[in-house]
Amino acid sequence: MLAISVKDLRKSYGDHPAVKGISFDVPEGSFFAFLGPNGAGKSTTISILSSLLGKDSGTVSVFGRDPEDTETRRTIGIVFQDPKLDRILTVRENLRTRGAFYGLQRKERDEAVRDAIDITGCTEFADRRYGTLSGGQRRRADIARALVHRPRLLILDEPTTGLDPRTRRHIWELVDRLNRENGITVLLTTHYMEEAAGADDIVIINHGEIVAHGTPTELRERHCSDRLTFIPRDPDSARGMLESRGIGFTEDRGTFTVLLGRTSDAVPIVTALGENIESMEVRTGTLDEAFMEITGEVME
Ligand code: ADP
Repeated sequence: MLAISVKDLRKSYGDHPAVKGISFDVPEGSFFAFLGPNGAGKSTTISILSSLLGKDSGTVSVFGRDPEDTETRRTIGIVFQDPKLDRILTVRENLRTRGAFYGLQRKERDEAVRDAIDITGCTEFADRRYGTLSGGQRRRADIARALVHRPRLLILDEPTTGLDPRTRRHIWELVDRLNRENGITVLLTTHYMEEAAGADDIVIINHGEIVAHGTPTELRERHCSDRLTFIPRDPDSARGMLESRGIGFTEDRGTFTVLLGRTSDAVPIVTALGENIESMEVRTGTLDEAFMEITGEVME
């Protein structure tokens, strides 16, 4: 079953088109990364998926139904960029309030709150006020809030923005666990390529259009080239050799880079350089480089 199906979705703000006819499917149980630079149209798309915003045209379904249906809304948990918890209340109190909002009766609610706290690792600080927590603890509590009504789909909008690298890693591990161990379908928006590396499927969006779609391996194969970098002893001679063979290269402060079709294409270049090599390296392209190539943006 498909958790999400989007076909030719369009949305403009006034005469500014934010989403220009995108289509993608997210199978139930998968981890889907929606990647793109700021302003690409990610938030607009997930706002439509979660029925916070109306679309202009196209079709959108969540578990085969209209996102606006009350029943559908109950299958979705969302973690917004700006926290929705009350700073004065403890994590547990916040979650109880949320459970009540979904109409859960006391016993069922307490159980759901306990499960959400357990599963997100909030136990230690569950009875502390939200306002006194660290950034990483708040993020866990935000995720717990999104899970109180036991959704089948969890949507996270740039969940690690503003967190330090170690805390970011912990949040990724949590999201990954929710997906793999608890079977929750995850849709994550991010502008960190690293965060998408563990996804089953990645869609890269830029200026409201899908510019690449595939598994991390497929994107790497399609968009990352191996490269030879070297520092020659005599740059003039190296430049002359490459130019005479018609080999494209870039040069940055004495370091030359040549993109390779295949790794073995490095061999004749290295042979021709011979003694002129001070140091050299051949390496595989990264997903970050693929993202830069696809969007023309530099990652943070
Ligand atoms: P992302 O989440 O990828 O950063 P958004 O969906 O927030 O992108 O924005 C897509 C485009 O729509 C951007 O150009 C943004 O400036 C514009 N936009 C977003 N929200 C509004 C709004 N409420 N009114 C007008 N323009 C908006």
